[in-house]
Amino acid sequence: MESESLPIPNTELSGPVLLLTTPFTQLNTPYPATPFLKGFLNTRNIVSYQCDLGLEVILELFSAKGLTDLFKEAERPGIKLSSEATRMLQLRECYFRTIDPVMNFLQNSSPEMAHAIASRKFLPEGPRFSQLDHLEKSFGRLGLQDKAKHLATCYLEDISDLIKDHVDPFFGFSRYAESLGRSASSFDALEDRLVRPPGFIDRIMTGLLEKKLETYKPRLTAISIPFPGNLYSALRCGKWIKENHPSVKIAMGGGFVNTELRSLSDPRVFNYVDFITLDDGESPLLHLLGFLNGSRELHDLQRTFIRSGNTVIFENGSQEADINMRDKGVPDYSGLPLKQYLSVLEVANPMHRLWSDGFWNKLMLAHGCYWGKCAFCDTVLDYIKRYEPCRPVEIVDRMEALIRQTGCRGFHFVDEAAPPALLKDIALEIIRRHLTVVWWTNIRLEKRFTDDLCRLLKKSGCIAVSGGLEVASPRILKMIGKGVTVEQVATVTYHFSRAGIMVHAYLMYGFPTQTEQETIDSLEIVRQLFRNRLVQSAYWHQFALTVHSRVGIHPEAFGIAKVDTPPGTFANNDLIPVDRKGCRHEIFGEGLKRSLYNYMHGLCFDFPLREWFGFPVPPTTVNHNFIRNVIRNAPVHEFSPDSRMIWIEAEPRLKCRAKNRKGEHRRIAILQILMLTAVVEIQMEESLGNWLMALITDLLPDKMPLTVSAVRKRYESAFGNSFEEFLQSGIFEKLRETGLLIL
Ligand code: SF4
Repeated sequence: MESESLPIPNTELSGPVLLLTTPFTQLNTPYPATPFLKGFLNTRNIVSYQCDLGLEVILELFSAKGLTDLFKEAERPGIKLSSEATRMLQLRECYFRTIDPVMNFLQNSSPEMAHAIASRKFLPEGPRFSQLDHLEKSFGRLGLQDKAKHLATCYLEDISDLIKDHVDPFFGFSRYAESLGRSASSFDALEDRLVRPPGFIDRIMTGLLEKKLETYKPRLTAISIPFPGNLYSALRCGKWIKENHPSVKIAMGGGFVNTELRSLSDPRVFNYVDFITLDDGESPLLHLLGFLNGSRELHDLQRTFIRSGNTVIFENGSQEADINMRDKGVPDYSGLPLKQYLSVLEVANPMHRLWSDGFWNKLMLAHGCYWGKCAFCDTVLDYIKRYEPCRPVEIVDRMEALIRQTGCRGFHFVDEAAPPALLKDIALEIIRRHLTVVWWTNIRLEKRFTDDLCRLLKKSGCIAVSGGLEVASPRILKMIGKGVTVEQVATVTYHFSRAGIMVHAYLMYGFPTQTEQETIDSLEIVRQLFRNRLVQSAYWHQFALTVHSRVGIHPEAFGIAKVDTPPGTFANNDLIPVDRKGCRHEIFGEGLKRSLYNYMHGLCFDFPLREWFGFPVPPTTVNHNFIRNVIRNAPVHEFSPDSRMIWIEAEPRLKCRAKNRKGEHRRIAILQILMLTAVVEIQMEESLGNWLMALITDLLPDKMPLTVSAVRKRYESAFGNSFEEFLQSGIFEKLRETGLLIL
């Protein structure tokens, strides 16, 4: 199969582009790469189709027919079944009878099945169900549908365990053969697996792929590889296409490629692919299509690896710039079976479920990160380094277009870190257009997320944010260059929680030079954040040293050395740190994760921290009430003369009447503010009431914004009094508590 020649354009072959996501990414919603690319190709009138082979394999496998084949495969000669698997196979008729209704239920098309599933007299229960008892408390809060979803998820996980133990150890719902893709400095293990006959999952996948190629007859198949858990299946698809449709060209790109394959030099990879592109895919793909049409020379491609003879060459002769965010078009989900994605519920935690439950339209607000300084992050790579925001009006236009297209009003802004100023303007635009949406995104937990901004975001539909707290230690946060302090994070999460927005925190342990004491103190901060309900969910990652981070480039500046391993010929990203000053980080992983799991379920806050670890650890040095004190003493939001005043509730009503008091006649006004759950009335002098009504009308979001200094001038020219007095008054305080924001 190995070709010694350069890729040649096949100008004879016309046809569309087939965009593929290979097993496995997510079950609940499409990975955004193919809708993003398809949306862009639409702007150039290039016909394309897309498919999520990951979802399609799952749907085929988790069906009565799929389970019949699976159970037969598990019983093949020479396989010794575990007692759990034997029991499952004995109950096979129960699985065949229940699998389709369960899948329909998880696709939200048979909600009535919740009654049967939650009764615990319907599904066969394997080992995953034995861990359920302590979750009854959470189910009580979550309700029938969620309880059934969680039980149905356990049922699928039992089947998944059977697959892993007896059919295919590489299987996982959101990754496949991930171990082959992780830190694969050599291509040997992948090659070894790829030259073997296709396995059970491979056969399902290529059977589906065959139908796609017959239906769409593409000239180019572009495969997205966002994670190491998609790599093997992408290469397996490439192999099948080359063997069965040799005229169809194959390109690969995506997050995994962008971080891991930048120094690729093993020519064997090109037995499975013709082109591998780096960074944003739109422009390299356009270049490739030009080459395949015969209108562009090979050396004129953009950021594209090819094989020439037995050498890998990086072609990047094009002088053309990348596609501007503005010109990327609206993501296009057409062709994806949106109603067939599965809402699974692994953890009974309302924030955590956003990743696995329900469909979300995905959008990017900006390319890159507006901060771009964190020491562990890939700050030298284009996807972080090149910051380019979209205009708020364009983003909200795209949201409206996506609602028309998918019928869904939920948005996940998949930015690395959405900038507060841009979020503010988007929120105002959403409110101005009276658009009803819900959305969530990733942010930096930085101080610009004031109480007022969080309330504005909530008003515009924000339900959750995720952000990096990393190591909750002042010294390490400074080393990282995160630009936040623990106190600021506590204050910002307080603002979000007051506004009713959930927070997920990304946590890290094992940063260079981190001591045992700092790890325990960091855990104590996390415990207090959960206990005070400032954070609803979190995840601990162990620090990984990567080539494209500041720590990877200058390890000595962070007190570590890196093990010098010869550069690999395939993936090159992870480095091995030598941290002589820090503790043995890896031993903390299990205890940190166990404690977090309990905190996320609202449990074990009073457990002494040492109990989470099977070895002695120092007591925490963090004050027991540290977070509570930070919140109590949180600085009051101060605004500047240039801050903008906005009224976010409905326009109030004003009622005026005469009032007699001890023979004194005067006119008073009652300002009625209609909140969602109550009417708030504020009594004042009639003149002030009239002035305020006029002001509030001018502060509505669809008006030109007024600054604090402009309002000050209006007040002082109307009343001659000091504006400061008004700012200190109970009337102003009530306005601030209801609809008046200062941003
Ligand atoms: S870690 Fe997040 S905030 Fe920091 S530079 Fe990377 S993307 Fe930006």
